[in-house]
Amino acid sequence: MKILTVGPLPDWVLDRFTDKYEIETVEDSSRKELIEACDESVVAIIARGAVMIDSEVMERAPSLKLIARTGVGYDTVSIPAATKRGIPVTYTPGAMTRSVAEHAMSLVFSSFKKLAYWQNSLSHDDWNARYREKSRDLEQSTLGIVGYGRIGREVRKLCSPLEMKVLADDPYIDHSLYADDDVTFTDLEGVLKGSEVVSLHVPLNEETTGLINRRNIRMVQPGTTLINTSRGRVIESLDVIFDALEEGLLGAAGLDVYPDEPPQTSHPICSHPRAILTGHVAARSPLSQKRILLTMIKEVTAILEGRDPDPENIVNPEVL
Ligand code: NAD
Repeated sequence: MKILTVGPLPDWVLDRFTDKYEIETVEDSSRKELIEACDESVVAIIARGAVMIDSEVMERAPSLKLIARTGVGYDTVSIPAATKRGIPVTYTPGAMTRSVAEHAMSLVFSSFKKLAYWQNSLSHDDWNARYREKSRDLEQSTLGIVGYGRIGREVRKLCSPLEMKVLADDPYIDHSLYADDDVTFTDLEGVLKGSEVVSLHVPLNEETTGLINRRNIRMVQPGTTLINTSRGRVIESLDVIFDALEEGLLGAAGLDVYPDEPPQTSHPICSHPRAILTGHVAARSPLSQKRILLTMIKEVTAILEGRDPDPENIVNPEVL
């Protein structure tokens, strides 16, 4: 029996399987190599790269029992094709929750405390900048969370010692489940109008594409900080953020994700003094990466041994 991995895995991960399975690793960008490696012996595909795992791949691996994605996205797997064949597709959505929440809070701290500005002043011998500019305190500020899922809730948790007020917008959850969280539920307009920091944590779909746009950004209090660690297209465009910074609607923007990745560095937002930009790295910590791989190993082992995966980690539970 063979496990096919698309893209390399560390040795400690492979060691978990090698007593029972043969491992074959194919390039994470070579569809041809993947198709050629598929045969009757393949029982699992661990899909890490950008190669599409579609019905053609599944047909060539008739003994396939599961497809495992590492991470939260599964756009490189044809879910309808897998579901039609009764093949479970697993992923690891909770494994990076804490890292992303910490990253979002780092962007919040960084913008409130103006870290880049102070470093730049000091490195230019401008000690007196301290008399012109001021950092801000998070204490007594209001943070608005858009999307109160795993990461949004973790951000709330991280805020709790900071004595901030927390608003949240999420029309798709039962708010009564979170009655013990120190959070006030409202709608998007309520979050935009009532917060000094707005942090986006929604999935990207038809409804959330352009959720923050040229029209509703005008609802924010002047000087609001906007944080996006979700998906770039949740904000209509980089121009919307840049213009809002220039107009003073936004005091700062902290972005980890972009409509197109990597973003065009010629875009003026990339050199805006009040934009704090990171390159889709929020989940790229060793602890997160380890959790992702451990979750993947747990679910691959469960399914190959005939047990059900954790319901949190399966994309198409209807096949079970
Ligand atoms: P989740 O599914 O646990 O939570 C998303 C929440 O958004 C859900 O509670 C859902 O009800 C809510 N929601 C959906 N549509 C909404 C809308 N229109 N308005 C308000 N709320 C809405 O997801 P998660 O694990 O918390 O991830 C959140 C986002 O973070 C996703 O976009 C994911 O892609 C992104 N993410 C980014 C990184 C990174 O490296 N930057 C890493 C992991 C996840």
